[in-house]
Amino acid sequence: MKCVILPLAFVLVLIAFTPPRVLAQSAPMYDIVINGGRVIDPETKLDARRSIGIIGGTIAAISTKRLMGKRMINATGWIVAPGFIDLHSHGQSIVADRMQVFDGVTTALELDAGTAAVKEWYDTQAQTGRVLNYGMAAGWNPADSAATPTLARLEQGLQDGAPGIGIDSGDLATATLRPIYALAAKYKVPVFQCTGNKAATVQQIITLAAATGSSAHLCYAGSADVSTVTNLVLQAREKGLPITLETHTYGPCDTAAAAAQIAATARNNGGNSVRYPLYITSARNNHYTETPIDAYIDDALVLLPGASIGSGGKPWIDANTGQPVDAYMWPLPVNAYAPPAGAGTYTRLLGYWVRERKALSLSEAISKSSLLPARIMERAVPQLRKKGRLQKGMDADLIVFDPGTVRSMASTVYPYRPAAGVKCVIINGVTVITNGELELTRPGKAIRRAVAETRLNGRTAAE
Ligand SMILES: [Zn+2]
Repeated sequence: MKCVILPLAFVLVLIAFTPPRVLAQSAPMYDIVINGGRVIDPETKLDARRSIGIIGGTIAAISTKRLMGKRMINATGWIVAPGFIDLHSHGQSIVADRMQVFDGVTTALELDAGTAAVKEWYDTQAQTGRVLNYGMAAGWNPADSAATPTLARLEQGLQDGAPGIGIDSGDLATATLRPIYALAAKYKVPVFQCTGNKAATVQQIITLAAATGSSAHLCYAGSADVSTVTNLVLQAREKGLPITLETHTYGPCDTAAAAAQIAATARNNGGNSVRYPLYITSARNNHYTETPIDAYIDDALVLLPGASIGSGGKPWIDANTGQPVDAYMWPLPVNAYAPPAGAGTYTRLLGYWVRERKALSLSEAISKSSLLPARIMERAVPQLRKKGRLQKGMDADLIVFDPGTVRSMASTVYPYRPAAGVKCVIINGVTVITNGELELTRPGKAIRRAVAETRLNGRTAAE
């Protein structure tokens, strides 16, 4: 079946030959209409055949009747869902966006490592133009010196609109972390902290959140100690603490067994021997797992109620030189390299956990990938209240996919293969994928808190 978009002229011809009574019923005319799909909204639990009408960047109608629009998408037999929201996307480039859009992602935020220069980062993205909605945390930086104290710089980042504070380390002393968590509580933003796959760090984070009143989001929470981790999180939630956890469908932890597995795969693939060291780096740093214990950890976290899905996807580099690839190149050449999570996290969830194993329902998988991340962020960034939902009045960030064929095509050997089965993607009311093909549009918008007056007036807290 084809995802068919009819040109305006053809639609007008159709209208010209439509009896007046039928025409009156079909008004108003929408910019884009998606007819015939199975529409799933994780918040209202809608799961039924509906037509979607989009005007500008907003979902203007959800109807049991067929609608008419300037562009018509036939989604019969396919799923229509809110676009996925990745809170852990290190790629942050046009090429990373394009690989992620085939994975169903419409918003990609980098809230784990973050940046030391929030304003400058957002300015650069606005100048370049992005495919996906984008955002970046104020990042804790191990290189901070007394000349640029960490807390002052983090506060400046929050005043410049960063959605949260990112701490890409699971090995910091409580005395170092406490004022950072207190700062997050003051600005009502979450702390996103890497756990280093250690249960002790998870306990430390929960204690700090309870003591300071901050919310905390656990990145990379998997470990051999996964039952301890999940119990800690569930107990914290029972006490009402705002602790959230994300997991990764390409594995939550960097085990030695995973490294050995990928090394063996690389050795057996003579044509890719040049990349051998990169596979090792990938295995150790990027959490690709294959062993039974890793599969057990994957399941414990992916299936944990309330756990959201994040990619942890990395920037795209040339496998031979280690340099960034041309961000505008499409399709990617065979020497383009990033771990598969940046190309197939969400389609792997839909293909492997939902379709093949039936371990997760379709609506649960969509919720973990869209509504849950939106809810984690919406107190700090009100823009997210209109994302992750497929309802009238919400942002027109939508995906259409074939539940029978959707799957990740990426692997450590073939990381540059876009995912299969995503037929149409609309971001802010603009089509980015139609008929399964990429359009060279860049409708992404900044996801950002209001910029503080101090910066607008030309002075900053750090100055
Ligand atoms: Zn990360």
